[in-house]
Amino acid sequence: MPKDTICKTVRQYNKTPIHIEDMKKLQEIAEDYRKVKNYVYARFGGIGGLSKIYPGYTVQNEMTGSGLRISMGMPSVYFYLAVFDALGDIKSQWTRTKSKVINLVGRNENFTPEDKHYLRFLLKIHNAFEQVLNGKPIELKKDIQRQYDLLSVNVDTDRLHHYLCRQVRKYHAVQHTDKADGFSIAERAYRYADHGIYISIKEKRKRIFIPLTDNNQYKSQLYVKLYPEQGNVEIKVPVHMAVRSHEDYVKQVGISVGIYTMLTTDEGHCYGEQLGRYQIEYADWIRTQTKSYNRNREQNPGRKKYHAQKNRFEEKLHSYINCELNRFFRTEKPRTIYLVKLPRPQVKGANKVINNTVAQWQRGYIRKRLTQKCKEQSIEIIEVLGKGISKECISCGAEGEKSNGRFFCPICGYEAQEKTNTARNVKKRGQGDGVLY
Ligand SMILES: [Zn+2]
Repeated sequence: MPKDTICKTVRQYNKTPIHIEDMKKLQEIAEDYRKVKNYVYARFGGIGGLSKIYPGYTVQNEMTGSGLRISMGMPSVYFYLAVFDALGDIKSQWTRTKSKVINLVGRNENFTPEDKHYLRFLLKIHNAFEQVLNGKPIELKKDIQRQYDLLSVNVDTDRLHHYLCRQVRKYHAVQHTDKADGFSIAERAYRYADHGIYISIKEKRKRIFIPLTDNNQYKSQLYVKLYPEQGNVEIKVPVHMAVRSHEDYVKQVGISVGIYTMLTTDEGHCYGEQLGRYQIEYADWIRTQTKSYNRNREQNPGRKKYHAQKNRFEEKLHSYINCELNRFFRTEKPRTIYLVKLPRPQVKGANKVINNTVAQWQRGYIRKRLTQKCKEQSIEIIEVLGKGISKECISCGAEGEKSNGRFFCPICGYEAQEKTNTARNVKKRGQGDGVLY
């Protein structure tokens, strides 16, 4: 088997609160970084920028020529990272716009199969796409041009070009960011030493020193995220690591993810049984804090203590989740894990009440960690549709009853822990055992 590698983000933290003056210098970089990104978005993020963003040298050259860096007094090591950061955002935004339009084309009943074929071609071939949107004649590389000629004879190209331009104008908004909460930093602009990291700032030859909680040293491009209110930073380091694979991991495991017990397997094994207790403790604390904050708003007591305590709660919760996930892997030795597919994220605000609970928030974290750990250890994850899955009897397929965490089937008499029944259904659906859904 080939040795695959995956990218993992490692985080580093400051050991002591960062001095307010130093934090200001870091915020200065973040603010410049934001300005440059917005400039790049505005100049290259629209239809006019399409011919310049691949492979991106043009953008780099034009940004050098713009004089923006000199006028801002921004070190070039930060300036070009901001440019490429924004360029990456622009490219992914185009990918999203194109896939949105591809979807619309597929669903449009007024198009013939030839129309759809032609439009998909335009959306796939970058140069063709760019030329149509900018109203230029179509000129492509020889073999691709031949393909284009074949596809275009059977369609009304003007009509389809209009359609494409209209959709793109409708769905492609130029990006803008108001956040100035961090920046990327290349190796030239930092140095690890003295149990911390030295970071270059705008003033020439000056550096800020941040003591770190660990002594690890990296050589890659880092991202420095700022939490000025708390006087903290978080340094994100992308690390490539070899994927581990375990020959003895052979089991097929269905799991049900819960709020009180983190995971229940199809064999009824439980992991993270204290999760509910931790979450209630945390939620209670948040409630009392909010109350006392509202009461004392006039005096406006510093929130530093609050944030520090909040971080401690979250760290405790997260380390518990990670320990229990590791125990799950070690014990079950899964080759494949089946679990219910998450519902599509709701439109912002629609589900606010639920989203505010601590439990919902942790759920995303559990998902993320589970997925990452599976990648690291080459364990397969299969998601199944969850419709009606907790009510269905694993034994006969009838609709059963749930009460006090137990499941009971009135038809065949099967009885089990509710979560175990669900996990067994998950595995069954994942393995495609004849259930239609
Ligand atoms: Zn039954």
